[in-house]
Amino acid sequence: VVKTFKFLGQLLDSKFSFIPHIKALVVKCHRTLDVLRVLANSQWGSDRDTLLRVYRALVRSKLDYGSHIYGYARPSYLRQLNTIHHTGLRLCLGAFPTSPVESLFTEANEPPLHYRRLQLGMNYCLRLSAFPLNPAYNAVFKPCLPQYFESHQTVISPFGIQLRPNLEASEININDIRLHSLSITPPWLLARPTIILSIANAMLPKQSTSPLVYQTLFAELLSHYPHYHRIYTDGSKTHDKVASAAFSSSNTFTARLPNHSSIFTAELYAILMALRTLRSSTYTKIVIFSDSLSALLAIHHCKIQNPIIIDVLDLFTTLYTAGKTIIFVWIPSHIGIPGNDAADLAAKAAIHNDIDQITVPYTDFKPLSHRYIQLFWQGDWSRSTHNKLHTITPQIRPLTRSNLSRHDQVVISRLRIGHTALTHAHLLKHEPRPVCIHCSTPLTVAHILLYCSHYASIRHTYFPTTDMYTLFKNTSITQIVNYIKEIGIYHYI
Ligand SMILES: [Zn+2]
Repeated sequence: VVKTFKFLGQLLDSKFSFIPHIKALVVKCHRTLDVLRVLANSQWGSDRDTLLRVYRALVRSKLDYGSHIYGYARPSYLRQLNTIHHTGLRLCLGAFPTSPVESLFTEANEPPLHYRRLQLGMNYCLRLSAFPLNPAYNAVFKPCLPQYFESHQTVISPFGIQLRPNLEASEININDIRLHSLSITPPWLLARPTIILSIANAMLPKQSTSPLVYQTLFAELLSHYPHYHRIYTDGSKTHDKVASAAFSSSNTFTARLPNHSSIFTAELYAILMALRTLRSSTYTKIVIFSDSLSALLAIHHCKIQNPIIIDVLDLFTTLYTAGKTIIFVWIPSHIGIPGNDAADLAAKAAIHNDIDQITVPYTDFKPLSHRYIQLFWQGDWSRSTHNKLHTITPQIRPLTRSNLSRHDQVVISRLRIGHTALTHAHLLKHEPRPVCIHCSTPLTVAHILLYCSHYASIRHTYFPTTDMYTLFKNTSITQIVNYIKEIGIYHYI
């Protein structure tokens, strides 16, 4: 009889407390953080984006693995892992040790661990919902004793029960998810469609190319297929509503897809509808025009992980075997090709129809889980009004690439977070709070950058602003670094 047992990398213990697993994880991650410590030297270290990539690959991946299993341990046990996350981000940013963790999350655009685990859990549910034969399916979607857990709030409820309200609140409807299926024909026997991308391969920049040039190319292309039946397909998405349309001289077919489906799925579904119309038609030579390069390339590369591509290729193979010649052609959108415009209008009109009984790949809903946790995280951040970084960056936003040296990046990060060696080292040394040697007021980053009268004349040559938000919004980072260098505190930040 053993107290712990390792199964698929998860250290399970007899009480399911996950304490041994978390302890082992902490040790493993601390060892990997040493790699970051070497790379993150604030003078000559690697840049922030590379370090974050290394952190995500080597450390965060370890925390992610199996997080939907161990993540339901008591919050007090899980807190040990937060330290790892915070240390990793602090190293990547070169932030001063006293920096608040909320600032680290926003500055690195990396959510707190509990939101990360929630997002991964939701994504796991999405994936699982496509595989009803998976042994975990019933445990997650039809959990035992829901009333018991509802009436016993102190008992940790199972994954499925904890996740359900989140799935509902994020507008994910698992009934809209397409179940995993295999193609009727073995993949190696599927017919490969001919896809003409000559207009895309011309590599014309769309903004500066006249529609006439495209129309000429299109007319030239049509001349190669004089007796072909033409079908134009298009997908349309406005906010959360999605629709597809297939237009030909004889018929127009439209479909309203579930809310939040991707535009990629809408384009693929339009192509599938076009093929379906051919089953009962007498045409033998058909050309299908689509303005979605990604959809056509996915068909070309037989991306059979996507269930709609399986449908497209299956049906194409059936039609091909029946003697029909079908060619797919890419055309640019909105350049005055009448058929494309008609398909576009039909798809836009279908947006207002009722939702059809169509299921879409689970991957379409992954952005919803991201949006969901982003809302919570932004809510937390909006409440941190006392935070110095909050006044500069009230909205959490993706990182922008910078070409600064590591030292400059560290200086800017510390200035933005408002915690520097100059202003906060006293907390670590248990000394009294420092004051400005020129004006005897408490020394803060805002004082150095905006208010110190001693540097007023130098400051005016670099930036004439009076608040931190406008300073970081309107002034180039190099100007701020140069100012810091000129007043002689660059090496003390
Ligand atoms: Zn001063």
